[in-house]
Amino acid sequence: MGEFTVTKWKCDRCGAVEDKRPWLPVKRSMTANAEYDVAGGSVSWKELCKDCNEWLGDQFKAMNLKL
Ligand SMILES: [Zn+2]
Repeated sequence: MGEFTVTKWKCDRCGAVEDKRPWLPVKRSMTANAEYDVAGGSVSWKELCKDCNEWLGDQFKAMNLKL
């Protein structure tokens, strides 16, 4: 039996796995530390699925950040 490797994309926030990176109209990412307490601590989200991307957009709006 031969072997092969399949590369999948995974959301940094919720862990959703997709065959490839979802297309997003506005791609958001976030790196935060404990002072910037959005997720209860340190976060590093570079790749987000559609749902998390929208969620993060709402958080930015709630925080009045101009991005
Ligand atoms: Zn996600």
